[in-house]
Amino acid sequence: MTNRFKDLSFQALFDAVAEAMLLVDHSGQVVQANTAALQLLGYTQKDICGLKVEALMPQRYRDHHHQHREAYSSEPQKRPMGKGRELIALKRNGEEVAVDIGLSPLSSENQPYVLVTMHIAAQHRQVEEALRISEERLRLAKQAAGLGIFDFDSKHNVVHWDEKMCEIWGGKSNETTSYEDFVAAIHPEDRLVRQAVIERAMDPAGKGEYMAEYRVINAKDGVEHWVSTVGRIHFKDGHTNRLLGIAKDVTDQKILEQKLHGQRSEMDVLLNQQVASQTISAIAHELNQPLAAISAYSEVALNALSGTSNPESLKRALEGCVAQAQRAGQSLHELISFLHKGELATEPFDLNDTVQNALILTQSYGYGGFYPILQLEPNMPNVLANKIQVQKVLVNLLRNAVEAMRGAGVPGAAITIRVQTNRDINMAHVTVADSGPGLNSEAAKRIFEPFFTTKPTGIGMGLSISRALAEANGGQLWIEPTTESGAIFHFTLPFAQ
Ligand code: ADP
Repeated sequence: MTNRFKDLSFQALFDAVAEAMLLVDHSGQVVQANTAALQLLGYTQKDICGLKVEALMPQRYRDHHHQHREAYSSEPQKRPMGKGRELIALKRNGEEVAVDIGLSPLSSENQPYVLVTMHIAAQHRQVEEALRISEERLRLAKQAAGLGIFDFDSKHNVVHWDEKMCEIWGGKSNETTSYEDFVAAIHPEDRLVRQAVIERAMDPAGKGEYMAEYRVINAKDGVEHWVSTVGRIHFKDGHTNRLLGIAKDVTDQKILEQKLHGQRSEMDVLLNQQVASQTISAIAHELNQPLAAISAYSEVALNALSGTSNPESLKRALEGCVAQAQRAGQSLHELISFLHKGELATEPFDLNDTVQNALILTQSYGYGGFYPILQLEPNMPNVLANKIQVQKVLVNLLRNAVEAMRGAGVPGAAITIRVQTNRDINMAHVTVADSGPGLNSEAAKRIFEPFFTTKPTGIGMGLSISRALAEANGGQLWIEPTTESGAIFHFTLPFAQ
């Protein structure tokens, strides 16, 4: 058979191989290197030829190497070098690189040679090692922060979780649980809010991130835990396929918060009563004098009409009435501007985020257990207002709605919160509609009056304060006049631009 490849040189073949290769003679000198080897080690063919192989390894390995070489010469065979030990090649620029090396004996014109192949496959080990280190770091950080991790695979309906999560939930296995068991442990009153927050994050147009706080009832010992979770939804072809998150047991913090909140509410009630009584005293004080004067002038005027005195004294009495009434008005005006004294700190913020925070806050104050229907306008511009005050308005409206629905024992209690741009007035417009009993027209007329309440322990300041806050922030707050069922409140806020 004729040699079909006689025009193909040894070097051409050698260079065509993707792996790095060196041809070394019996004295340990490099006689030829292929392109991949030159690239890996950073030499030219001219410089590498004639070098001892020891020059291609770090100093610390050189001393014993000739012994290994001699051992190989006495028993040449195709085998990997180093028997699993880490092998390091030294590049021309002094850099070290981990490599896997294979040795194959060859002979030409009765001279023995060794073909040395170097796999950069050792990179794989380096990556594995880096991964192991980063996992270890993550594990330590997780442990230090008391975090649990979960990963819900929606295609196979399985939640992968770690020991910490399993411990909080009281699960059966440290590795996985079904999504049904995962949700079953969540407090029934908190499931709907959590669900709503997640559903919103599942909108492929959004950021896919969510934050939720809810109670978990440990399946083993029945103990209630508060957990705070942060999660991220992963999408594939426009569909949710994974939900990855971390959870932290925040029970202690929650107990403290609730205690503080309880104390603060009591303080608020006391303070409101105190402020109310002082305000009333101030108003009474300011109005007493003009009212007394008006009454005296009116008597004079009446006498003037019925008696014999001249029209001049009637005129004076009526002028006195007008002046006193104006003085009363002025006093009230001054009082109101005094009460409104103090700069309102405003900032631009995302109203949709504030709505979600208010929802979480309302629930954590013990007013959960309803199904929130969020209709948030995506990418709405920021509003310019005082965030805390807007949150207060929202929490007030939500709390009233929950109280009304609980009071009437409404089944399937739901609150719709809509955030949209009101194009007619170019303002942000929030609607809070509940599925409670609503209000009759008599009550609806009076609900914004201070101290109007129908609740045994209410003080009737919530809505008048909320309206004042909305107005102080440049908006309005009102109730929809008549509705078939449920109360519908609206408020507006200015945009930042
Ligand atoms: P309070 O909650 O202390 O009674 P508010 O000013 O917040 O004070 O509310 C005044 C009254 O308005 C309530 O007592 C209740 O009768 C009525 N109200 C407020 N919100 C609703 C609602 N969503 N559904 C029915 N009634 C409501």
